[in-house]
Amino acid sequence: MSYAPESIAYHQGEYKPLKECNENIMTHALQYGTMVFGGLRGYYDAESDNVYLFRPEDHMRRLHRSAHIMQMVPPLSESKMVEVALEITRRNNYRCNVYYRPFIYKDALQLSPRLHDVSDDFAMYSLVLDDYLDTSRGMRTVVSSWRRIDENIIPTRAKVSGGYANSALAKSEAVQHGFDEAIFLDSRGFVSEGSAENIFMVRDGVLITPPVAASVLEGITRRSIIELARMEGMTVLERDIARTELYIADELFFCGTGAQVAWIEEVDRRIIADGQIGPITRRLRDRFRQAVIGKDPETRNWVRPVFESRVNA
Ligand code: PMP
Repeated sequence: MSYAPESIAYHQGEYKPLKECNENIMTHALQYGTMVFGGLRGYYDAESDNVYLFRPEDHMRRLHRSAHIMQMVPPLSESKMVEVALEITRRNNYRCNVYYRPFIYKDALQLSPRLHDVSDDFAMYSLVLDDYLDTSRGMRTVVSSWRRIDENIIPTRAKVSGGYANSALAKSEAVQHGFDEAIFLDSRGFVSEGSAENIFMVRDGVLITPPVAASVLEGITRRSIIELARMEGMTVLERDIARTELYIADELFFCGTGAQVAWIEEVDRRIIADGQIGPITRRLRDRFRQAVIGKDPETRNWVRPVFESRVNA
């Protein structure tokens, strides 16, 4: 994951090299965290020599909803934003896994922390990105000493940049103590999510994840996992999870655009079950991996191939 100055991004209504996409230091979004963002992936499949965007319409819909919560007026429609992601892929002629960062931000040079009467703009850049977490092994996690911000502090349903100070505090605390990732509790003390991923637990064959009211982001991977599990005939519950249920879970995993499906080996120094990836996690992870490159017959409509001419299938 690195800065590629020559890669083509979208900024102020134009496609241009990322190194030319600059903003004034007075920009409202920089001063107050008044930016809402998305994060989606394009998966490269060598067999069809194509890049597949994963649920781009759903990502742009969530971005628009985040903007609505923050009283922003998106300058582009959801479908135009999908077009920008497609165009960025084409202009960079990607033949690899890509991460796209679309965002709407308060671009006015304006002093007061408010939402109304401050202008908004939209931009998008992309990065070459394989795994964000090392998914070849289990995650070693700790419950964070930082609580998840809640709905009435900074809405977690919206991906507001300012809210990610909370994620950064938890992630750094976990990593600087030698772990891979943090697990947040919500303001009531129930399990919420990771610093940038949703969490799932398996108990007695049932797949369980915290409800959307537990200060979680309404993750698109979360929803995809729920849908895949139901297709597999599993029972899925969205219910509160207590901290110590994590310790005695049969299986635990994170999921998200960055994390994909990352199994959890340890929570608060307790090894989860036998310390190996569990069968349900493996099944869902394998199916998810097929789905993102358009090879899962039941979910083919989740992906959008970018290059028409490169598709041979
Ligand atoms: N929770 C948080 C706080 C996140 O930042 C993310 C990443 N967008 C997720 C969950 C996972 O959401 P998604 O599956 O839509 O990427």
